[in-house]
Amino acid sequence: MFLDIHELAVHRVPIRKSYAPGSLDFHSTEFRQLEPLTVRAMAELVEGQIHIFGTLHTRIELNCARCLEPVAEEVSRDFDLIYRPASWAPRQEDIHLSLEETEIAFFQGDGLFLADILSEQINLAVPMKAICRSDCRGLCSHCGANLNYEQCGCEARSADPRLASLEQFKLEWFKKH
Ligand SMILES: [Zn+2]
Ligand SMILES: [Zn+2]
Repeated sequence: MFLDIHELAVHRVPIRKSYAPGSLDFHSTEFRQLEPLTVRAMAELVEGQIHIFGTLHTRIELNCARCLEPVAEEVSRDFDLIYRPASWAPRQEDIHLSLEETEIAFFQGDGLFLADILSEQINLAVPMKAICRSDCRGLCSHCGANLNYEQCGCEARSADPRLASLEQFKLEWFKKH
């Protein structure tokens, strides 16, 4: 869906859409969309700027930061955004304004694609990292075993196998010298 300034100049455009997983490009390998992304919004032209506000909802899957198993997360976000024509030269008052309102962005030409707005909003809403459960034990740093499912036994042995072999090397060096 393209939000065209010529159409917006005539009337506000209500948006009710649903995007199936795979239909939007999030430019990210960090997460996957699990359910349709639903959006309800209103777009309008205000003094030459595109104003779009509404709410979106979906579910995504990302990997647990500790054990790398998939974790499902709800994503709900309200947004209220202003897009200015890129051709507008920045004015002194805008520089001042941008310090207070971080939600101001720009559009090129006749408007912008709703898909691009949604992709950006989802990326902003995705948590930096997810944990499958608060007591997730993660992966063994030596053998990579998932410690939630198995006890690999590395912990029982000396701390770091590389350090252990260094100790052994030192011991033999001292024997020789
Ligand atoms: Zn985990
Ligand atoms: Zn291990």
